[in-house]
Amino acid sequence: MSTGWDPSAGDFPWPPQNATAMSSFHSSDADIRWDDPSILNIGPEFPQEETKRASVDLTVILNPRPWQIATGSFTVNSLPLAGDFIEIGGVLLTAVNGAFARDEFDISSGNLTTIASNIATAVNQGSVKSLGLSEAGASGPIVFLEYPVDGEEGNLVTLSSTTAAVSPSGTSLTGGQKGDTLFFGTLELKANGSRTSGENNFDVSGTIQDVAESIKDAINDSSNYFGLFTAGVSSNVVTVYVAEPGGQGNNIPVNIGFGDSTAPITMDFSNGYTAGGTGVFCPGKSNTQWTIVGVNIYRSDTSQRGPYFRVNRVPVASLFYRDHTNLVEVIDEVIPWEGGWIFRGDAPNARSWRMRSRNTPIVKVGTNGIPADSEFDVTVKINGKEVPVRAVFGPKGEIDLDLRPVWDPATETMIEPVIPEENYSITLSYTYMKGNKLVNTLDNRHKVFYRLTTVALDPSGTSATGLVETPLEYSEPISPMNSEKLDYIWREAIRRNRWILEQGGERVKLFIRRVTGNPCDCVWDARLEEYSKQPLNYCMRCYGTGWVGGYEGPIDIIIAPDDNERTVTQTANGRRLEHSYEVWIGPSPMTSQRDFIVKQNGERYSIGPVRRTQVRGLILQQMFNIGYLDTGDIRYQVPMSPLERLPWPETRFSNPEDSECQESAPYPVGYDYQASPMMSDKPSIPEGRQQRGRTPVWQNITYGGKGNGKE
Ligand SMILES: [Zn+2]
Repeated sequence: MSTGWDPSAGDFPWPPQNATAMSSFHSSDADIRWDDPSILNIGPEFPQEETKRASVDLTVILNPRPWQIATGSFTVNSLPLAGDFIEIGGVLLTAVNGAFARDEFDISSGNLTTIASNIATAVNQGSVKSLGLSEAGASGPIVFLEYPVDGEEGNLVTLSSTTAAVSPSGTSLTGGQKGDTLFFGTLELKANGSRTSGENNFDVSGTIQDVAESIKDAINDSSNYFGLFTAGVSSNVVTVYVAEPGGQGNNIPVNIGFGDSTAPITMDFSNGYTAGGTGVFCPGKSNTQWTIVGVNIYRSDTSQRGPYFRVNRVPVASLFYRDHTNLVEVIDEVIPWEGGWIFRGDAPNARSWRMRSRNTPIVKVGTNGIPADSEFDVTVKINGKEVPVRAVFGPKGEIDLDLRPVWDPATETMIEPVIPEENYSITLSYTYMKGNKLVNTLDNRHKVFYRLTTVALDPSGTSATGLVETPLEYSEPISPMNSEKLDYIWREAIRRNRWILEQGGERVKLFIRRVTGNPCDCVWDARLEEYSKQPLNYCMRCYGTGWVGGYEGPIDIIIAPDDNERTVTQTANGRRLEHSYEVWIGPSPMTSQRDFIVKQNGERYSIGPVRRTQVRGLILQQMFNIGYLDTGDIRYQVPMSPLERLPWPETRFSNPEDSECQESAPYPVGYDYQASPMMSDKPSIPEGRQQRGRTPVWQNITYGGKGNGKE
């Protein structure tokens, strides 16, 4: 069973809403419709505690000290001579006449403005900029220098000149200043002389209320990187919130770096970290970030829990699908002389002619895949003329020609049959079943379930198919047999019904008999199976079911308590135990006759005919008799693994309602877990004086609590 590619990030599109299956009057068809998954927009499915955002207050006390950049300049006073040089942070720029190299500037123009511009070019294209010492611009005869990074270290860049023709503004760049910085986690917000969107800074000018307003604007500015936070302001106090509500926003560290540690503090946080967030934020469901390709439809013929197999070939891009047993008509398929025949008049004993269709199984037209067995189910022509057929075996697509002469009473002669020859044109018309049969026989239609998944393009490009799909566990199983949707009233009714079982029921394991899958190789001959209708009843691969594995399970269920006498009777074969009584369970998993259960003491019981209580087409309860199986029964050979290997009392809970938000999948697939606790364990009661029972119910009665080991 494949559910497609599973994204490593755990991110996937949600399944379509309101998936509904219904029978389309043909019992071999099921119509499925759903809502467009791309417009899905709903809240969290599970109730959540009221959430509060974590926050921290920042009070602006004085105008913060802004970060400043060190600057300087050179003024070209008169024409320098070739060979004169100026110095910036130890790098020499030399005046040359005409052609200039790196770290040289041309003075041949004799124009002071042009020379200033040439010096700026020499700075920006030469060592000064590449060493990070300065960047330059020119205006008139003045070259302006700016250290690339704000802070004090720019003040260390020295300036000098060998000629009075070009004079520096001072002996070094000046005005660089280390300012105040706010830290939110790893994010920085710098004080500045003005606020520039996208540069993660705020304006320190104006009143302290203006400063607080500027800090708020900077945090809420979507061009900055503070998307994790949002801010509000009241007078000179900025309240910084963690944008996502809930306790997860607590304990993000906040801090202030002061540019001048000797000066009075300019700003103060109320706390060293964010605090006050409560509850668990459960996000709603939306598929807006996905490019939806379509919907995949999976079917299980066994139960709500699977196994599931995909029925469509490519994702369905519409909102409707008809699942059906696909019968394909083939007209005049050519039967080749080599390969088209099993016997060409050389069958042992019979000397019959037996051809074989290209596709199998041949079925009867208008049925749900009933194998063909009549001469009227196929048409064979030899040289364009229809010839009689003696026998048809649909499962293997085998057709025997009738080569007996026929007495024609009109002419009183024998009509001799046409014997096929190598150069004859021999054709066969028939109908075959393509793909699997939609199971509907006996009580099996109650076990047909669908799950729908949404398929979207994989934005990360790591998927083998380029697609990402809803995991099956997140898709609700739907059945055409439930003709009404479960509403909250009946969901609660089912829950309370289960409460009764939880109080006093017996925890057992259910095994569901397979009706589809891989045929077992103990059915080695299709003809033998067709005539005897039985796989081997001692086969250890299919346990007499004909399908590899035999049964799906073990599945945890709780049944009503044992309430009947255990009768030991004397029979011709010896003594045996007769123990049979009626039990009931809820609507899931769907059971039917020939499933069986295993009790904790190892006894196995077969399940009899199932009665299903319904209201408005909703199955609410299943009632059935269980009967003790003698230990010689093959069903005792069906393995309990891996449960038998669990070290007692290892227990895993799998109830999604006990998880916060949806950490576990809401609609699990498969059965390989142990959900019933084998012994209680109350964490708040110390070992040594803790009394242990077998069930959460016992623990709740003894110690109270929310059940299932939770406090
Ligand atoms: Zn078998």
